[in-house]
Amino acid sequence: MKRPPIKHCRNCGHAVVYRLPDDGDTKERAVCPVCNTVHYENPLNVVGTIPVWGDKVLLCKRNIEPRFGKWTLPAGFMELHETVAEGAARETLEEAGAKFELGEFFSLVNVAKVGQVHLFYRAQLLSEHFEPGFETIEARLFSEEDIPWDEMAFRTVSETLKRYFADRRTGVYSTHVFDIG
Ligand code: ZN
Repeated sequence: MKRPPIKHCRNCGHAVVYRLPDDGDTKERAVCPVCNTVHYENPLNVVGTIPVWGDKVLLCKRNIEPRFGKWTLPAGFMELHETVAEGAARETLEEAGAKFELGEFFSLVNVAKVGQVHLFYRAQLLSEHFEPGFETIEARLFSEEDIPWDEMAFRTVSETLKRYFADRRTGVYSTHVFDIG
């Protein structure tokens, strides 16, 4: 989802204008004509995990928009003052209520069009008992052949899962960096 542009100054509340700032910056920014505050907009990180139990992967059915009712890996927006690993672990706990051990970093997906970077760690589940939070209708384990590919919420997730299963077949997990347009 593309973020809406900034409309009002976060400092004084006046309507902003999009123009080149006065400091030589070469990109148009939201500039406040009253207090001259320049509002910078930067990409957001989405952090999550690929939680595994035996040969099965944990997916969460979304209870929130966007993509209500579609399946995803546990993932969400990174918070300030946490590391990527901490954010991925927090989201896994919040969305699936799963007990797990965080594993190796697995994928970095640039989604430049919407200004996001998605980052996934592998995770080893320690129990098959889940207590999903309010953002999740259902948390369920899927074998590769049962993954609901047509019902996946995000391409970052399905493309990460495809690479995960491909690595698993070879027995060697590597780090994957790719772009989604
Ligand atoms: Zn202002």
